[in-house]
Amino acid sequence: MGAIGLQTWTDGERRETQRARLRAMAADVLAGNTFYKEKLGAAGVTRPEQLVAGWDALPFTTKTELSADQAAHAPWGRNLTYPLERYVRMHQTSGTTGRPLRILDTAESWAWWAGIWADLIYGAAGVTAADRVYFAFSFGPFIGFWSAFAGAERLGALCISGAAQSTPERLQSIVASGATVLLSTPTYALRLAEVAREETVDLERSALRVSIHAGEPGASIPATRERIESGLGVVAFDHTGATEIGPTGFSCEARDGVHLVEREFIAEVLDPASGEVAEDGEGELVLTNLGRWGWPVIRYRTGDRVRLERGRCACGRTWAKLAGGIVARADDMVIVRGVNVFPSAIESIVRGLDGVAEYRVEAYEERGMVELRVIVEPLPGIAGGIRDGVAEALHRSLGIRCAVDLAEPGALPRFELKAKRFVRVEAKRP
Ligand SMILES: [Zn+2]
Repeated sequence: MGAIGLQTWTDGERRETQRARLRAMAADVLAGNTFYKEKLGAAGVTRPEQLVAGWDALPFTTKTELSADQAAHAPWGRNLTYPLERYVRMHQTSGTTGRPLRILDTAESWAWWAGIWADLIYGAAGVTAADRVYFAFSFGPFIGFWSAFAGAERLGALCISGAAQSTPERLQSIVASGATVLLSTPTYALRLAEVAREETVDLERSALRVSIHAGEPGASIPATRERIESGLGVVAFDHTGATEIGPTGFSCEARDGVHLVEREFIAEVLDPASGEVAEDGEGELVLTNLGRWGWPVIRYRTGDRVRLERGRCACGRTWAKLAGGIVARADDMVIVRGVNVFPSAIESIVRGLDGVAEYRVEAYEERGMVELRVIVEPLPGIAGGIRDGVAEALHRSLGIRCAVDLAEPGALPRFELKAKRFVRVEAKRP
């Protein structure tokens, strides 16, 4: 799996390296970045060493704040460290929450993205220059797999774009090109497997051997990962990242959670109830990127609910791990009759059952209480029975009873990006 070198450092080495990089970044940011000069200045920080020394008292950065700044200073906002002519790329967030944020990269910061992919994410998945990498991605303004493409190119692999292709065309392209690695969302990998079955394309006998997934937590949910692996004949890996932060994590060969790229990010965990910040534990993930000087985020509240663990992984790495990947968006948790329910918990249960093609969860209020309705689309040819099976499995695992309804084959949406299977609705639908 290649050398993992620095990825086995001690806590002391980690802190020392991160502080040195933070200090270097702060020199440029405090000199040229109006947004952070103002924000940190208000907290009494005007020199790089103050940023490091006063870290625990620094304010958080939120997406709402960055959005408001961009709206007030359109089109780019003030989170720019260098003059505009230094920037070479614009991407935007997917807009699943609020208006999309436009984010600029310099040539240096784009090389930073590509380098993390080439050295660490592909490295952990055993992808090399000998591989042919297929991207089932639309290559629109959303950053998605653009950086993964740049990283594979830097690695020396053969890069194959799947933009503007239908699912059958993508399957054809994967088989014909002898692609060995697939990049897609977990949902779309399941869609490829579904269409391959319909079109009798034998992916298990194709050259595909590895898949890397992002955009949703599926590849860290064992039941979903097993479906992807058996459907495509691959070993599936998870990757976490965000347009406004960078490529933050990857799963290793132990495939037990997601390692954070601690060489490039400072990770903290915020307990939303107490406001306490810790280096590990459960809560909202807070990240600072150390290599994207042109568009930095400092103590950025990701909105992701995680359990961050420290210690040595079976793979030998000591970089912190998110147990189970990103468990949920912090605001996606619902409390049903006193039970905390995360969308990923429902996914894990439903995907673990045979006969389920797709599903959707609706949360609604009834008499002041949150209720869940799970809509399940059976695989073709699967009759009755499945509804009771899903209801029982949910009751057994979550300890609550949910309404379960069946959908016609093909009735539920298939997603290429950012699947939205968990929705809040006004009331239970008939
Ligand atoms: Zn590991």
